[in-house]
Amino acid sequence: MASPDETRSDAPPTPESRPPSVDRLARAIADVDLPHPLLVDAARSAVASGDPATAEQRARDIAGEQARSLLTSVVNATGVLLHTNMGRSPWMNLPGHGSDRYSSLELDLDSGERGSRQDRAPRLLARMCGAESAMVVNNCAAAVLLALAALADGRGVVVSRGELVEIGGGFRIPEVMSQSGADLLEVGTTNRTRLADFEQAIDGNDVALALSVHRSNYRITGFTESVAACDLTGLGVPVLADLGSGLVDSACQWLDDGPPSWLEGEPAVRQTLEAGVDLVTFSGDKLLGGPQAGIIAGRADLVARCAAHPLARALRPGSLVLSSLQELALAYLARDGRSIPFWRMATIPVEELRRRASAISVDLAADTMAVPGGGTLPGVEIPSVGLMIPGDRVAELRTGTPPVIARVHDGSTVIDLRTVHPHDDDVVRAAVNRLT
Ligand SMILES: *Cc1c(COP(=O)(O)O)cnc(C)c1O
Repeated sequence: MASPDETRSDAPPTPESRPPSVDRLARAIADVDLPHPLLVDAARSAVASGDPATAEQRARDIAGEQARSLLTSVVNATGVLLHTNMGRSPWMNLPGHGSDRYSSLELDLDSGERGSRQDRAPRLLARMCGAESAMVVNNCAAAVLLALAALADGRGVVVSRGELVEIGGGFRIPEVMSQSGADLLEVGTTNRTRLADFEQAIDGNDVALALSVHRSNYRITGFTESVAACDLTGLGVPVLADLGSGLVDSACQWLDDGPPSWLEGEPAVRQTLEAGVDLVTFSGDKLLGGPQAGIIAGRADLVARCAAHPLARALRPGSLVLSSLQELALAYLARDGRSIPFWRMATIPVEELRRRASAISVDLAADTMAVPGGGTLPGVEIPSVGLMIPGDRVAELRTGTPPVIARVHDGSTVIDLRTVHPHDDDVVRAAVNRLT
């Protein structure tokens, strides 16, 4: 029996109304730099959406749009050093990557046998922050989840009500806690928590851990009282400090001029561990200045329990991330902050930025304020210099190759040079010239 389609006997379409062949259209836009199947998709959408006479232009627009929307490198001229929309911290160059070679990821070069991916970069990271041991997972959220699951599944974890934080992107301590299987034991109040509150909660409960969470992205001011992570060390249970932002050492030995004033009060990994905290977790791509990763560092027996948990396999990082962290740890150990993009940009003297801004345009050079960003150091501003152009021109700047990402402040477009690599000053100059 014939299907309804086959029995249809419409007259053939006249040449003008016949839809252009999808395949012919896809070939007509072959100059757009996309693989053929994606050009066919664009052609199909164009054919489906209206007038055949303009289908080729529509197909070209759709395909061009898709080509531009692919992941690409951009010039961050926002002055936000750790910009969540641009991958937070930029990576260091990876020597040896980009070649077609394999990686020694899990190869023991001495024995030729299988080794552990957690041996190289994590060992250097531990050395860098004075920890007995360290391991790397996919991000800090994963680090907290794994530590809680491995150390406190089915048991209590005491944490201050003032530290039940939400980090952007849906990381909420109470939810992570429940996913890990640990029982949240809230202590104190939103604005005031005392050591005695922890002692009471531990008394008579099966408590596996005391958790301290860094208020990375908010402040509580006024009538407040809180207990620092290092003051939890006498409670008789292991202390886990989720530091998040991951400042390695408050002395910043990798910076020629020592710690910048805007870091004041930011807890550091080394000092937190020295104060007796058993385990810390922190991000790779915040103040550490590396790729997206989460680091668990501290007592070797606790790190080993995390590494042995089944979730560790699901949360493990790949060789790109581990290679990048290895370079980063070597740079920290060599006290070479200038090779770490985040620290180089964060500490460029204002005079140098002013010189660069004037070289691009004396008329447009203006003082600006940069920020650390990335959910760290709320309220902190870092004096900076950039270019100021009247009106909102940020959308036009985004259309360049590479796109320049600027921001609008008080009705002006601000191009902040603190977050721009000097070798991109020419890109900025060209983009500005196109606008003015
Ligand atoms: C940022 C942050 C996290 C989450 O880190 P990701 O690496 O983004 O997963 C967790 N805890 C604290 C305290 C943070 O600041």
